[in-house]
Amino acid sequence: MDKIENVVIIGSGPAGWTAAIYAARAELNPLVFVGVPKTSPSIVLPGGQLMLTTEVENYPGFPEGITGPDMMAAFQKQAERFGSRMRGEDIVSCDFSEKPFKLETNKGETVLANAVIIATGATANWIGLENEMRLARSGGGVSACAVCDGALPAFRDQPLAVVGGGDSALEEASYLTKFASKVYIIHRRDEFRASKAMQQRIFESPNAEPLWNKVVIDVIGDTSITGVLLKDTITGEESTLDLRGLFIAIGHTPTTDFLEGAGIELDAAKYIKLNSRGSKTNIEGVFAAGDVADSVYRQAISAAGMGCQAAIDAEHYLSALSE
Ligand code: NAP
Repeated sequence: MDKIENVVIIGSGPAGWTAAIYAARAELNPLVFVGVPKTSPSIVLPGGQLMLTTEVENYPGFPEGITGPDMMAAFQKQAERFGSRMRGEDIVSCDFSEKPFKLETNKGETVLANAVIIATGATANWIGLENEMRLARSGGGVSACAVCDGALPAFRDQPLAVVGGGDSALEEASYLTKFASKVYIIHRRDEFRASKAMQQRIFESPNAEPLWNKVVIDVIGDTSITGVLLKDTITGEESTLDLRGLFIAIGHTPTTDFLEGAGIELDAAKYIKLNSRGSKTNIEGVFAAGDVADSVYRQAISAAGMGCQAAIDAEHYLSALSE
């Protein structure tokens, strides 16, 4: 008979690695699918979104800050120290209709598991411009998370911009007004979709300025951003705007495509729905943690906390199963 894994963890961001640390220490011998290395930040990366984050300054325990990749390497090392096993593959489909669960890898192999923790994250949407991606990858002042990066010294007292017109964009813009000399909100229409309260905060801020009917068509800068090229969506007119930081806030996409047909309940935006407390999904034995099940907080620390919950819930489930 094929080997049945005790617990398979899908994903290798803060949620996945924390689940692995806890599951390994509970002697569950977890197997972590870390994902296949990808070239584009618009799709799931091994190590998760933190692989695109330069300095992490808000994770407790790192008073001097730490880079996202260094932090994920440390998480991985800690998970390995307690015996977590890893595979550099993606899970491309799941069959949760009977136990053990069946997971199919991108190499066409089927892996059997008694419990599964889904920690595949959510990916920030990018505009998709070549220079945007280049400067995001190199820490050149383009970011998809103002809360993560906005307080860095490079952005202090500088002109910054946020792209988007939803709650995230206005929340990020409002946060940046504390550090920046000026915060432009570049929006493709002439009204925001964000809540009225959030809009009011922006309209009342002396250093926030909406730029209506504008889209970014290029990002200018060699090693760091110096500006953007804008296009007016009504007149088609192009203009440049000097900037030292650009924050993209045009929504996130949870990585749940591989769950299609697997019976896991998702919300309207395709995030996994959790039991009101803890990490249980609607399918017994399948747990979720981190951004894939959290459209609100989306922080490394909150994802790690959810990973811990998922491992503990999986441990309880597996011990009840073996009794
Ligand atoms: P969102 O509501 O989907 O807003 C995305 C924004 O990006 C929209 O203004 C959209 O423009 C714009 N956009 C999308 N694609 C674009 C593109 N390719 N180029 C330029 N602009 C583009 O996403 P969100 O702001 O991340 O919010 C997601 C959910 O979380 C919402 O339900 C929101 O209310 C909630 N949320 C709540 C809070 C809070 O309550 N504190 C904070 C953050 C998020 P259009 O308006 O023209 O479509």
